Amino acid sequence: MRATDPLDSQPLGLSWDIIDIHAHFFPPGWFEAVWNFFEKHNWPINYKGAPAELAQQLRGFGVSHFTVLNYLHKPGLRDSLAEWTRDFAASQPGAIPFGTLYPGEPGNLEAARRWFLEWDFRGLKIQPLVSKKYVPDPDMYPVFELMAETGRWLLIHIGTAPYPNEFTNLGDLEKLLNDIPGLPVILAHMGGYEFERALNLMERFPSLRMDTTMIFVNAGVFDARYPLPMERLSPFLDRILFGSDFPNIPYDYAESIDGLRRYGFAGADLERITRANAARILGLD
Ligand SMILES: [Zn+2]
Repeated sequence: MRATDPLDSQPLGLSWDIIDIHAHFFPPGWFEAVWNFFEKHNWPINYKGAPAELAQQLRGFGVSHFTVLNYLHKPGLRDSLAEWTRDFAASQPGAIPFGTLYPGEPGNLEAARRWFLEWDFRGLKIQPLVSKKYVPDPDMYPVFELMAETGRWLLIHIGTAPYPNEFTNLGDLEKLLNDIPGLPVILAHMGGYEFERALNLMERFPSLRMDTTMIFVNAGVFDARYPLPMERLSPFLDRILFGSDFPNIPYDYAESIDGLRRYGFAGADLERITRANAARILGLD
């Protein structure tokens, strides 16, 4: 399934531009460390290259906009990573910068305020599987309140897929949303593997979105593919966003779109999921 030339890309046959809400970019040295970790513990990486080459490749697939997501596993790196993200996004057409915080690190609120109000970062990525920090950490509440006030999106990977730790309980997100009901949240991977529970949260919290990252693909990456029928998703078709996890995927990028088609998304619904829903929340069109 590996692409023969990892930097090849071809448009994927949609008649509109794609928005990928879940793409990762790290500074070059960090990217290699992430890839080494993935290849040792998770899966082989199909796409490797310099960050600018990878962004170019993504545009070659017909992606007009994509997020720049990264995350931290220890304190001390927040500001240098955010500066890299800011500069990288400014140099790349279509790039949408997100910051990341290590909960408990001093200065998080000031950093977030600078990113949202001066640098126009559109949100934060939080990865409790890696940070090993409790999501509704009281220390993070001022940041989450600022996000609710400024309409910034918390893109969070929480749930037991691909494997759990004590910080990946979907109940933690539920507590956060109960405390700050208007917080704009994108739940990665359709909430996997707590798919039912994620839909329950979707019903209760209108500010919640879900992304399709790695869930509809035929790749055996996650142990379960999406188990629920289309009827269950019908009420939420304007709140599901296409995401890929590019470049950290062990299959061709096209599979991310093909999987959506196989599941049954087509026509205007496919356009909503792969473009319009994200354009609306990011204020793009
Ligand atoms: Zn991801």
